[in-house]
Amino acid sequence: MKEAIVILVVLLILVGLTAFRYRKQLMAMVNVWRMLKSMRQAGRQREDRIEGDNKASGPLVNCAKCGKWVPEDRAIKLGRTSFYCTAGCMEKSAKPA
Ligand SMILES: [Zn+2]
Repeated sequence: MKEAIVILVVLLILVGLTAFRYRKQLMAMVNVWRMLKSMRQAGRQREDRIEGDNKASGPLVNCAKCGKWVPEDRAIKLGRTSFYCTAGCMEKSAKPA
């Protein structure tokens, strides 16, 4: 049982020395791993955003002021047939220049 502990300690020292010897390489590996992780996260966020857009885009409606096409559920509805992409467009339309 004592020998096992000695072997374990020696192994730990060897691992520690190896880690110390190759700390630069290890740091580089860690950096690469972190970069890959962040890239994967960014990719996932992008996918989520695309999915979100697909969910939000129902029938498209034409902004009565600027003519921009916007999903109906995001457009501001005025009356039965008038849609506006933003409140700004609605205000501009309400106040003719
Ligand atoms: Zn508009």
